[in-house]
Amino acid sequence: VVPGQVPALLFYSEEMNQRAKEHLRIESELRLALANKELLLYYQPKVSLRSGRIVGAEALLRWRHPVRGLVSPGVFIPVAEETGLIYELGNWVLEEACRQIAAWRDANLMMPPIAVNLSARQFDSHLPERVADVMARHHVHPEQLMLEITESLLVRGAENVIAIMNELVAMGLSLALDDFGTGYSSLAYLKKFPISTLKIDRAFVVGLPFEENDCAIARAIVTMAKQLRQEIVAEGVETIEQMGFLRELGCDQLQGYLFSQPIAAADFERMLREGKRL
Ligand code: C2E
Ligand code: CA
Ligand code: CA
Ligand code: CA
Repeated sequence: VVPGQVPALLFYSEEMNQRAKEHLRIESELRLALANKELLLYYQPKVSLRSGRIVGAEALLRWRHPVRGLVSPGVFIPVAEETGLIYELGNWVLEEACRQIAAWRDANLMMPPIAVNLSARQFDSHLPERVADVMARHHVHPEQLMLEITESLLVRGAENVIAIMNELVAMGLSLALDDFGTGYSSLAYLKKFPISTLKIDRAFVVGLPFEENDCAIARAIVTMAKQLRQEIVAEGVETIEQMGFLRELGCDQLQGYLFSQPIAAADFERMLREGKRL
């Protein structure tokens, strides 16, 4: 060991130790957050590229930490997935989304369908029953709710995944495939799953219309989705140029900062009342 220099191995394990500690801290704080009602949902509008109107929204989890402020799900969802806490978290999200949908309906507001994100770990044989129970308690109709799932679930490819999806679809729910293009699924593959919407990942939207590769990928995804008669949503749209390219491709909807960031329920409600258009 060179004097004054930390050996690489020691450094590495110290870093891992820090990470493990951080995970433990987030995990225990997250349990408290659930109990203390520090979690909330934000809503990000999805707009039709044809009509310019808001045609949906995605519910995105936020954590209002008493000290750290608003914590991004990018920080705590992976921890929740690792520790299994995602199960409780996911149930809370479903419950809260349905409660909000019911509250809007009771206030006679015409709300577009709200999409909820599901982690692969929530996808077990009891899922349809749990979803049906939450919907029934809040008198939520299946057209008012959508579920977003990620590609990793398909790649796992087990028969029971298809069976669970079919059950959800039989209940009248529609499924969107999130972050499309980042996993390994192919066109042939997608046919096997009862998915009505594809969401192009932001990674491929970022370079539009200047990066040739991104353009080719976006074009391929849209062409393919059209052949499968799926709706296409582009995520992370930030510029007019991106929007223009996507519109020309025939993409159906966009979601992104260009139109709106994820916002609190009351702000989303106001946006709808005011009839904001693209
Ligand atoms: P996602 O499902 O891909 O959600 C889209 C993310 O992109 C959101 O980040 C959103 O705020 C962000 N975004 C939207 N438009 C733009 C844009 O124009 N530019 C940029 N730079 N970003 C944009 P967020 O809210 O931080 O969520 C991150 C991820 O955390 C989500 O990615 C999703 O995978 C996960 N997540 C969020 N809420 C939930 C939840 O309730 N359950 C589960 N299982 N996962 C969730
Ligand atoms: Ca999503
Ligand atoms: Ca996404
Ligand atoms: Ca994404």
